Amino acid sequence: MHRLVFATNNAHKLQEVSAKIKGQIAVLSLDDIGCDEDIAETGSTFRENASIKSHYIFKKYHVDCFGDDSGLEIDALNGEPGIYSARYAGKHGDHEANISKVLLQLQGETNRAARFRTVISLLWNGIEHFFEGTVEGTIRPERSGSEGFGYDPIFQPDGYSVTFAEMSLDEKNAISHRAIAVEKLLEFLNKQ
Ligand code: IMP
Repeated sequence: MHRLVFATNNAHKLQEVSAKIKGQIAVLSLDDIGCDEDIAETGSTFRENASIKSHYIFKKYHVDCFGDDSGLEIDALNGEPGIYSARYAGKHGDHEANISKVLLQLQGETNRAARFRTVISLLWNGIEHFFEGTVEGTIRPERSGSEGFGYDPIFQPDGYSVTFAEMSLDEKNAISHRAIAVEKLLEFLNKQ
């Protein structure tokens, strides 16, 4: 089985991606290859950050690999939190505080349009390929649901009456930004 390293140690993301790729290619995490480094996201776009991660792993381990960067873009906040999604309220990964900050910023705001975006940078035989996925939706005024992670409790995808956090992993996986980007990655891999 072909091995492909996903430059992440986020268990939720790994689970979402592995569920899609399962059977065709073995997806390994950074833990799996003994890499415990936190690759700094110093880029100014999702694309740059995804690329930084894949290049870092390729340079060090010389394996086929991909990195991703995702985030939430809110129209009324000029695309924020964007690349700062994980640390919007200050501390990296403090999802509760990040959600509180978004809800506060949007208080009284009628334009609740937002989207999740994922960009994947794949290094396959040393050549870089990008894949992108977005899912449009709205920001709810209050949290709802306990599944998923990050901003899931306040993001309601268009065409649904529930948030991502009220969906099962399979339901979210069928429509999420990451799933769309991964589908495109899979399409590419299947042609190889
Ligand atoms: P990352 O850089 O891809 O790890 O994503 C950065 C941040 O964007 C995460 O820490 C979350 O706050 C947010 N985010 C990305 N994808 C999702 C998702 O599927 N649901 C909720 N929040 C997400």
